[in-house]
Amino acid sequence: MYKVTLEDEDTVIRIKRNLMEQAAIERLLNLVDLAAVMEGSRLADEKEKILVRMLGFPTGAALLRDPVFNKDAAFTEKEREMLGLRGLLPARVQTMEEQVQRTLENLRKKPNDIEKYLYLISLQDRNKTLFYRVVIDHIKEIIPLIYTPTVGQACLEYGHIFRRPRGLFISLKDRGRMVELLRNWPNRDIRIIVVTDGERILGLGDLGADGMGIPVGKLTLYTACAGIHHAHTLPVTLDVGTENEELLNDPLYIGLKQRRLRGAAYDDFVEEFMVAVAEVFPRTLIQFEDFGNINAFRVLERYRERVCAFNDDIQGTAAVALAGLYSALRIKRGRLSDQKFLFVGAGEAGQGVAALTVAALLGEGLTEEEARQRCWFVDSHGLVVKSRSDLSGRKLGLARDHEFIFDLTTIVETLEPRVIIGLSGKQGLFTGPILEAMGRFNERPIIFALSNPTSKAECTAEDAYRRTQGRAIFASGSPFGPVTVEGKTLVPSQGNNVYIFPGVGLGVIASGARQVTDEMFFLAAQALASLVTEDDLAQGSVYPPLAKIREVSATIAATVAETAYRHDLASKPRPDDILGYIKSLMYEPGYQSYV
Ligand code: NAD
Repeated sequence: MYKVTLEDEDTVIRIKRNLMEQAAIERLLNLVDLAAVMEGSRLADEKEKILVRMLGFPTGAALLRDPVFNKDAAFTEKEREMLGLRGLLPARVQTMEEQVQRTLENLRKKPNDIEKYLYLISLQDRNKTLFYRVVIDHIKEIIPLIYTPTVGQACLEYGHIFRRPRGLFISLKDRGRMVELLRNWPNRDIRIIVVTDGERILGLGDLGADGMGIPVGKLTLYTACAGIHHAHTLPVTLDVGTENEELLNDPLYIGLKQRRLRGAAYDDFVEEFMVAVAEVFPRTLIQFEDFGNINAFRVLERYRERVCAFNDDIQGTAAVALAGLYSALRIKRGRLSDQKFLFVGAGEAGQGVAALTVAALLGEGLTEEEARQRCWFVDSHGLVVKSRSDLSGRKLGLARDHEFIFDLTTIVETLEPRVIIGLSGKQGLFTGPILEAMGRFNERPIIFALSNPTSKAECTAEDAYRRTQGRAIFASGSPFGPVTVEGKTLVPSQGNNVYIFPGVGLGVIASGARQVTDEMFFLAAQALASLVTEDDLAQGSVYPPLAKIREVSATIAATVAETAYRHDLASKPRPDDILGYIKSLMYEPGYQSYV
């Protein structure tokens, strides 16, 4: 008997997805053609209507309320006729281009970014095809509105701007019932879950269930930047309480009003979730997002080999930072191994970036010890040195043999680093004197202020450039506009993991990878760096423009898939042309004809 392969399943899924969009309608039309021949055209129209209903395709007002199939005024005359839409729409059929134009016109009229965010989210709820068309075609303008920095503000106000739920909320009340909850989700073929417990939302701290804006935003980017169809994505918030007093006292807070679950009970809760996901959505990649560092490393270590999972803050950030370093070194004409790195912030992101940097240094021929000697760390208690009595666990491994220094300016003056990377979540930590010192020791200082959102950046692009007379090679986690210094306009780029995670996810899906490995992130960093042109570098950008994000994601996806095949981690047959195959999988929003 023929055994159904994973590839067959994919084909079926794709056809099923298209069923409502195209393939079934064509089939339907074939039937109708047949009917027309057999019964005459008057009866055929009638039959078509019946068949539409039989297919379970939404019609009439229900169709206009269905964000997946809705086209608003772009429904054609024939569709209006066949799908019971006559009179429910104004008479003139509009094109998608006209709808995009109207959307942008309305968007740009909104008085502030949070209003723009709300407007876009309501479009996403009403007409997903139009929403993704607008996002993809105007990515540079829209990303800051649906992702950092605006999503940070949205999370801060989540309970107050809340209109309708999005994503799946799994709370402590649901212990023992997670399988049932996951089955409540309307889509069956989930390929990516982004899950948070809301403890460290961007650099904004514990926002509890209000952190849902982050998984929702990240998955929107998976669709926009890597073309993973939204029907395959699922945002999840684990509501395990919050330590945020303001939220606990806020009558409009949407989450459980209790202190965070800790210890073994927390681990059991996460375990139930992971087991439930494996049962209900067995082919899913899980991205851990914005967990507090008290849990993030442990959860990652526990699951990274058991299931297909990664932590974006630790691994995704590492890859984007390393790619930026490679580009910066092209400007400086230096090698990684000639640098001295000062990581300001030794949490998830700082440690993740350092670990991948060490891996890259090993690749340049350094020993582990030599590589570690190039990395210095600062946390909220000062320079991470062996004499500190407050260090334990992973931090001990980062500690250096050096006198303790608390003050960051003195640390920079003493160590004279070549590269300073801010991942502290503390605004303005890179003060004028620190930036000036970096400019004194280095012809081209590398200054990355990667904390999000903009309000938490360690310094602005303007500060970094002005204090170094335009010599700094700068990147930031959230976007800053161009700066003109001494007659030259510099375009700072965004060192954000949005350059990495969508491509990694797409590569995992395309190859059916069973695991996400550190090597995949290392090679993703190289792939990203390889797409930076001389023109980008000439204007001070260490990443490609965001407008090229779909090309970036496809290239990274091909690299990740290639790695999965090479290490026998893939569960799908290897296509001859991996990049071509990956591009063919990418969802391109456009209206399909329904009749
Ligand atoms: P974390 O809580 O794990 O770590 C924060 C670290 O900063 C800790 O080591 C803490 O001790 C240190 N710190 C706090 N105050 C400090 C101070 N005054 N001086 C020196 N160090 C200080 O958080 P994380 O996950 O590592 O994230 C940190 C920041 O990085 C956040 O703002 C986050 O938004 C940002 N981030 C950016 C990206 C990106 O793609 N650009 C990705 C992930 C995280």
